[in-house]
Amino acid sequence: MSGPFPGGRRPVVQSKERKKSRENGGVVGVTERSDIREVAHWIRTSNYTAVLTGAGMSTESGIPDFRSAGGWWRQVDPRKVATVEALETDYPFFRDFYRARIEGLRACRPHRGHYLLAEWEAKGWVHAVATQNVDGFHLQAGSRTVYELHGSLHTFRCHDCGSPAEEPEFMEGRSCSRCGGRLRPNIVLFGELLPSDAWEGALAAIRWADLVLVIGTSLEVYPVSQLPSMAKGKLVFINLEPTAEDGMFDRVIRGKAGEVLAALDGELRAAEA
Ligand SMILES: [Zn+2]
Repeated sequence: MSGPFPGGRRPVVQSKERKKSRENGGVVGVTERSDIREVAHWIRTSNYTAVLTGAGMSTESGIPDFRSAGGWWRQVDPRKVATVEALETDYPFFRDFYRARIEGLRACRPHRGHYLLAEWEAKGWVHAVATQNVDGFHLQAGSRTVYELHGSLHTFRCHDCGSPAEEPEFMEGRSCSRCGGRLRPNIVLFGELLPSDAWEGALAAIRWADLVLVIGTSLEVYPVSQLPSMAKGKLVFINLEPTAEDGMFDRVIRGKAGEVLAALDGELRAAEA
């Protein structure tokens, strides 16, 4: 199967009727042990569990908030600079913004939640992690099957000829050694297609899974926002804020990613003992 992206086709948006058909959905607090216990039971008994993470997964790692942090770029809206248009019309600005982001990332580390997902994979409780995050923390924490749907700030290429490049070349402001073109991180900018291998892998994992844990995403960025609706198994949403999509999940656990994962881990360990 060549998938929706190589041919330029977009994934099919499912009707929202499915959401209405879900029963027993409900918003709970992290302190409700019975829900934590039930989701832990689902994790333990699932044959294939896929995880989808978004920005809320990384906030506990201290990734700087660009609207509140200091520096010249505090006025910059990442949604405006993370575009092909910004790269092509004002490359020095684009480059300096991403250099600052990469510098900021160097001071941050995966948190306990990232490590727990990696441990669960090693124990056979998690089988794939798809992420919207570009910080590389799932791989850094030891997760093996990771689909970086929006690319990564850890690898680089030439925007003009596609040749791979090294981080120091980009950080030092050099041009492509092959064609003299503009170097950039391998992230997906607004206006670009998702990497087809990551998309296909994530889609297959989510369709195949008995259980999908969606963690820390507002489900606002298309097409990743469509992935949960493609799940056939149970759907669990771990998120700090309510979203318009809460109704489609079998369970919604309100809380910080790291704290909820730690609570689930406590239940998993207790059940194992
Ligand atoms: Zn080049």
